[in-house]
Amino acid sequence: MLKQTIQPFRINLNRFASSSSKWKHFYDNCVRTITSNTSTESTTSYTVPKEKVECIVIGAGVVGIAVARALALKGRDVLVIESAPTFGTCTSSRNSEVIHAGIYYPHNSFKALFCVRGREMLYEYCSKHNIPQKQIGKLIVATRSSEIPKLNDIINRGIQNGVDSLRMMDGAEAMKMEPELQCVKAILSPLSGIVDSHSLMLSLVGEAENHGATFTYNSTVTGGHLEGNQICLHISETKSIKEWNGTSILRPELVLMPKLVVNSAGLSAPILAKRFTGLQSRVIPPAYYARGCYFTLSNTKATPFRHLIYPIPEDGGLGVHVTIDLNGQVKFGPDVEWIDGVDDTSSFLNNKCRSC
Ligand SMILES: Cc1cc2nc3c(=O)[nH]c(=O)nc-3n(C[C@H](O)[C@H](O)[C@H](O)COP(=O)(O)OP(=O)(O)OC[C@H]3O[C@@H](n4cnc5c(N)ncnc54)[C@H](O)[C@@H]3O)c2cc1C
Repeated sequence: MLKQTIQPFRINLNRFASSSSKWKHFYDNCVRTITSNTSTESTTSYTVPKEKVECIVIGAGVVGIAVARALALKGRDVLVIESAPTFGTCTSSRNSEVIHAGIYYPHNSFKALFCVRGREMLYEYCSKHNIPQKQIGKLIVATRSSEIPKLNDIINRGIQNGVDSLRMMDGAEAMKMEPELQCVKAILSPLSGIVDSHSLMLSLVGEAENHGATFTYNSTVTGGHLEGNQICLHISETKSIKEWNGTSILRPELVLMPKLVVNSAGLSAPILAKRFTGLQSRVIPPAYYARGCYFTLSNTKATPFRHLIYPIPEDGGLGVHVTIDLNGQVKFGPDVEWIDGVDDTSSFLNNKCRSC
């Protein structure tokens, strides 16, 4: 019975074992017995393969990929575990593809510091690696005079954050730049731009792999536990989870024991962290879920806008904005609908994305 469940996973792991000799020992001769008391398992003993790994990155979205690349460039052994059949299928490929300037975030916050520095690094990375991007600039607009004080706050915050070249314009000047726009005042952010997010991720994956990182797809981290100071990650083939009825014991098909774990499972990261027995719940940030839709502008001969156009931000988002992708396709969105959460299984299987 156990052999049957492990067999397909063996094929999957052997695939990366053959691509890198240092992983050859990965699956062989490693059947031991574990006793687990995690919420997903019984307290009975059963045999499961275990293996030591240096660094594990959970999730191959843009964050996981970038982390894997950085670790690999530093000479660390990296294994990326991704539940989907390939990288970047979730939030990282369902966004506005905007390179943000760093305007909105609280002064001195990590978001502000990282966004300003990250934007500079991203433009530099894109031009060095020929990744399609365009610094098309962005307008943040006030559509009525009551919004002007908020626009003033935004520009002051952007300047505090070190975003260069921001400029307040009156409505007439903004509407001259964008004849289809109606506004009373606007901020011009020339440093904002757009990027081909798939090319970016492909480039980062390529670099990570060239430096020895291994990506294993269709493999899901279902939880973990501590053995002394050693964290043990529970891994199953994604297919097995799809077949799981959600109520029976979810037993791992493999246990990995890394020195370093990066939980970059995106929307699933907090849910997954809660499944790590022994991890104090106070270190797990609360999750708030929303979903939204984009609307494409069709049947137009020419792109009606040349810049990204954003309203005054709203609670929980930047507001329904106009983005233009590198092919000139205009899209409006996303709107925001707050939802209670995503259930365990859909979180593992990326189903949450399908409802977007
Ligand atoms: C509507 C919207 C618009 C946005 N627009 C922009 C924008 O214009 N510019 C910008 O900079 N940012 C934007 N963002 C934010 C940006 O898209 C995200 O911050 C980024 O994509 C998050 O990447 P990630 O790697 O953390 O998550 P994800 O891309 O979600 O990657 C997480 C990965 O983990 C995998 N995974 C999950 N659970 C497990 C598990 N248990 N085991 C193994 N693998 C697992 C998933 O399959 C997934 O591939 C936007 C976000 C949204 C929602």
